[in-house]
Amino acid sequence: MTVTRFAPSPTGYIHVGNLRTALFNYLIARKTGGQFILRIDDTDPERSKEEYVDAIKQDLEWLGLTWDRIERQSARLDRYAEAADRLRDMGRFYEAWETPTELDLKRKKQLNMGKPPVYDRAALALSEDEKTALRSERGNGVWRFKLDQTRIEWADGILGNISIDAASVSDPVLIRADGQVLYTIASVVDDTEMGVTHVVRGSDHVTNTATQIQMITALGATPPSFAHHSLLTGPQGEALSKRLGTLALRDLREQGVEPEALLSLMARLGSSQPVELRMSLDEVAEGFDLSQFGSAPTKFDVQDLFPLTARKLHALPFADMQDEIAALGVPVDKAELFWKVCRENITVRGDLAGWWALFRDGAEPLIADEDRDFIAQAMGLLPDGPYDAESWGKFTAAVKEATGRKGKGLFMPLRKALTGQERGPDMGDVMQLLDKIPAKALAQ
Ligand code: GLU
Repeated sequence: MTVTRFAPSPTGYIHVGNLRTALFNYLIARKTGGQFILRIDDTDPERSKEEYVDAIKQDLEWLGLTWDRIERQSARLDRYAEAADRLRDMGRFYEAWETPTELDLKRKKQLNMGKPPVYDRAALALSEDEKTALRSERGNGVWRFKLDQTRIEWADGILGNISIDAASVSDPVLIRADGQVLYTIASVVDDTEMGVTHVVRGSDHVTNTATQIQMITALGATPPSFAHHSLLTGPQGEALSKRLGTLALRDLREQGVEPEALLSLMARLGSSQPVELRMSLDEVAEGFDLSQFGSAPTKFDVQDLFPLTARKLHALPFADMQDEIAALGVPVDKAELFWKVCRENITVRGDLAGWWALFRDGAEPLIADEDRDFIAQAMGLLPDGPYDAESWGKFTAAVKEATGRKGKGLFMPLRKALTGQERGPDMGDVMQLLDKIPAKALAQ
């Protein structure tokens, strides 16, 4: 059975970049009837916060990306310690005492000599006496995994065949001097013990994958299939990393973006398939194909979410909006017409309140100087409400008759005077929702 996981660290809110990872893994499981695990990577007790765990769950639930199982790394520390012991017993794990400043200096020297800044494994050459001395002087060291200096190869689900020379990679630190287990080993143990078959994550993890493949193999397991999706950039190709903070899913939700819009865009963006609005995760899953995604950075423009959001709203039947419309204070007898009038003139649900305010309180009329007399004359011909489906036709016919205006010269100034806008819903419909707009226009 296919098993995938989404493994966020609860150190902040999840954003569009994380969503891509979550969604790809979710869809792979969904398409094959497999399992999707939500794994909370909370081995860092200082930076991990419970409020972020709750926020991550809320965001995923909002999108319908529900998980079959939830796992927490903080509850599995004994498993990681056991794996560390096994690596130690195999001679694949060694303690090192360089300070960050010393490591930095080494890196600078290597770069100056035109060499890649790879950890020089000096700690491997330490005698037992030297280690004892360092331990008493500096306390515990960090623990590094000793890579086999061979080529590490895998068939990446997106990048194709990858081959990385392990000698060009530093032996990764798996346990910090304070004993904190790091993600690299925790992830290996979890993926192995939880039977994860497919891992999709960002291409910033490619080097991790290389080292993790060696760890998994050393621990006697078979690596899952790996795929690395490209990272998102801004619309101009600019790095998005700094702006991701403003692209948190909860901010998008706050701005009125509909889940279907986000899912439809993110499941296709960066692939050779067109972005089309899909109304359910099943439909999104249907055409999803990892092999259609490219390795080039993917341009993301938050503005693309709004036309999709609008399209989703246009498609909603009145029944789905009834409660929301009632909550705005729209009277029951006007509610269905209100939705008919508004649905094609909103981008986000929040726009409905503005339309209702306009119908209820009247708009600030928009009247060009040259239309002042015309509007005054027209308003004199406006009968008292309430208005019905015929009212607009009768009213404009009378205005045409009295002023001789026709076409755009007739309709546009009236629309602007009554709604304060140049564009908008059919005026025959609008008129039926008006009680007080004319009052404002009349006052001009
Ligand atoms: N917690 C890691 C991250 O958020 C997970 C990476 C992975 O998928 O293995 O980057």
